[in-house]
Parts: sequence; structure tokens; C-alpha cells
Amino acid sequence: MEPFASPDQLDSELRSFLDDTCSELCNWFAATGKSSPLPVSKKNVEVAPLYEGFSRQDLLEDLKIIMAGAYRPSHPGALAHLDPPPLTSSIVADLVCAGLNNNLLAHELSPSFSKLERNVCKWIADQFDFPSSSGGVLASGGTISNLMALVIARKKAGLQTDAKAVILASSDAHISLLKSIGVMGLSRESFVKVSTNNDGQISIDSLRIELNKLREKGQKCFAVVATAGTTIRGAIDPLLEMSRFCKSEGLWLHVDGAIGGVFGLVDSTSSLVKGISLANSLSINPQKLLGVAKTSSLLLVADRADLMSTFGTEMPYIEPSIGDDFHGGEAGLQGTRPADVLKLWMGLRQLGEKGIESLLQNAIDRRRYLQTLIDESNFEIASGPLHLIALTPKKLDKELSSSWSIKTRKDLLDNNFMVSRPLYKERYYLKIVLGNPHTSKTHLNELSEILNQSLFK
Ligand SMILES: *Cc1c(COP(=O)(O)O)cnc(C)c1O
Repeated sequence: MEPFASPDQLDSELRSFLDDTCSELCNWFAATGKSSPLPVSKKNVEVAPLYEGFSRQDLLEDLKIIMAGAYRPSHPGALAHLDPPPLTSSIVADLVCAGLNNNLLAHELSPSFSKLERNVCKWIADQFDFPSSSGGVLASGGTISNLMALVIARKKAGLQTDAKAVILASSDAHISLLKSIGVMGLSRESFVKVSTNNDGQISIDSLRIELNKLREKGQKCFAVVATAGTTIRGAIDPLLEMSRFCKSEGLWLHVDGAIGGVFGLVDSTSSLVKGISLANSLSINPQKLLGVAKTSSLLLVADRADLMSTFGTEMPYIEPSIGDDFHGGEAGLQGTRPADVLKLWMGLRQLGEKGIESLLQNAIDRRRYLQTLIDESNFEIASGPLHLIALTPKKLDKELSSSWSIKTRKDLLDNNFMVSRPLYKERYYLKIVLGNPHTSKTHLNELSEILNQSLFK
């Protein structure tokens, strides 16, 4: 087999390779429901290339071994994390992206995609009612989007060389913030955690108190981070109040909307993230609930010029960018980047407004339904307005909740339900993420039965 497709004629080898592989992939999907979400992989593959290269049949045999051991997000019991099945348009788009192999680094390496990325970011910013100066850039994951936002915020505050500069975010905020400040050369103390209320939302009073404490110590804050959809329970910080607070204090407001941001895309759910339009920057992850294949994350900024002024370097080995636009490689942290925008754009178009609405609403409805089935006299429930719910038996200490969670997670896995086991407020919870469109009421009935019974075992 020729390793590169012919540029002159239809490459029948590639055609057969794709046909056979696509059949395998479709078979893999078709067999998902009959297995476990988390298969036990018994076979290993050889790693080193042999002297003679493999035929496509040999490659496919190896591929099948890896596929058999892969996690199955399409299994109706795959409820542990924020990793739903991929939209079918995503599968097609990723295949085409690999074929076209364009590079979002520069216009001349991705003419149609660079334009598409700019326009898709603009459309999304408009959905959030961001100002007309806004824009964005795609990134491989919410961690990178959050990091870019904090780097921009720190530069805008002029605190790049201040080793004591801090960010303020709730104690339920995502660990990517901690990672980001580490990358930015700051210590753990630069992540000032603000306490939350009983609903898992940041307390504005505590925010004010923490800011005053910092000021008394002479420390400066370069960003307040609001979380729209916390990772354990899907709580949404009070965005309107936080934006008012930040405005009056002259602070940058970043909204980490990796989970909940997408609810702002359509009218029927946008009230959940009211105030999001007032953020200086916003991360969203269509790779989570929307089902756009990994990776799909973007950073939006109220002023698009901030991207270039933070990350622009000039690229002396590349032709100048077109018009007032700038190269992707100067709009963010990443250099070479795949055209992730294709699957995002195709995914949004495949779903349509109606499809997006029902995907979001159904996820919330599944969480609500499950919540009605949980025996609240025995469980403490941590949830919010979105599609996540976490629970732990009442009155157990850390150790007992740990053994309960380990045993129950295993019982659930034996019944083909996969949930996760976060440590939250000094106790272990079982967390269920209801973003999987294949999970039916029947599945939830079965799941809740096992949960309710777990206390009597
Ligand atoms: C998932 C998540 C992130 C990080 O996103 P990655 O794509 O995993 O890097 C950031 N913030 C929140 C709230 C998240 O849930």
C-alpha cells in the first residue's frame, strides 16, 4: 500500500482502507449497548514498527484490538463524566480534517478554515450578546481556554511580573485554574478560594471579604473567575452580581463556562446563564454536552484585539494575514492547530437550533427525573440547575463514604452503569452526568434502584 494518497487519480487502496475502517467503526457502535461502558482490555498490541511496513489488513487487525479496549461513551450507562457520544457529523468532519490536514497556524495553511473559525466564533459571541468588538479562538480543551484567559487578564492588569498577584474563584472551581497559575509562574497561594453557599455558588459577600483582605496585605488581583457549571454538581455562580462587583472594583471577569456555557447558545435555556454577556472572557466546551468530538473548546473575549495584543509575535516566515484579520497562531497560545472548527460548525448545523435546544433540555430533564427517584431521606444531594447530580449517604464520615462509594460504583459497573466518585466537602460522592442522549427512563429507574438499595447492603 502506498503510504500517501495519489494526487493524480482516485486512490483505490485508500478508498478500500476507508471503507473497511468505517465498517469496523460502525460495527463498534452497533455492539456498544451489549457490552460495558468500560471494557476490560485483555490483549496488548505491539508497539515498535517492524522492518517491513504493515498492510492495511494488518493495521486494521491492530486497530480492532485498541477499539475493543476503548471506553464507550455511547453506552447508555456511560454517565461518569462530561464525555458524551460524538455527533455523527463530528466523526465525518474529523475524518475530512485529517484528510485535508490544514493548519490553523496561518491563513495560507488554512484559507477557508481560518475564515470559518473567525465567523463561527463571531456567531457564538453574538449568541451570548457579547459586544460587537468581540471574537474568539478555538483551543484543544477548556484548560487551554482558561489559561489563555488568565494570561490575557494578567497582561491587561499589568501584573506579569508580580509574583504575588492572585485570582479569585470559588472553592468548587475547576483544577485547570490551579494548573494555569502554575504555568504562569505563580504559586498555589495565588489561587484564592472563595467559599460557596449551600447551592455550590460563590458567595458574593465572601468574595468582597477576600478582596479586602488581599488589599490590606497589599496584594493585587488580576481576575475573578466565575464558574458557569461546576464540575461536581453543575452549580452556576451568580454571574450578574459578579459582573457588577467586578465592574465596580475594576477587575477582569472570566467565566469558566466549560460545562454550562452552551446553555447560553439558545433562548430556551439562556436565562440559566444570565449575565454571561458581561464577562470580559468566556470559555466554553462544545466537546462536553453538545457532543462535538474532542477536542472542541473556545475562548471568547469581549475585545478581540486582546488576543493579538497578548499572543501576537509576528511570524516572519509566513505571508502577512489577510485584511484586518490575524493568523490563528497569533490569536492564542497554540501554534499548529487542527481545524477543530469544522466539527463544531457541522455539529451546530446538524443539530439546528431545535436540536441544540432539545439536547440541552433533555439532559436537564433526565437529571430532574433521576432526582425524583432518589430517596432524599437517606441521601444528601448536591446538584444545580444543569444535568449533573452527586449524592452521598447522609451522616457518613469520609472513610465510610469512601467504602460506600467504592462498593456502589463497582455494583453499578457490574450492571453496566458507570458513574464517578468525587471527593467533595470532605466526603465521597457518586456523581452522575446526564448528558448521554441514549440514557432512557428505564435505565434511570434501574440505576436509582441500585443506588437506593446500596444503603442496605
Ligand atoms: C472540563 C472542565 C474544564 C477543563 O476542560 P478540559 O477540556 O478538560 O481541559 C474547565 N473547567 C470546567 C468547569 C470543566 O468542567
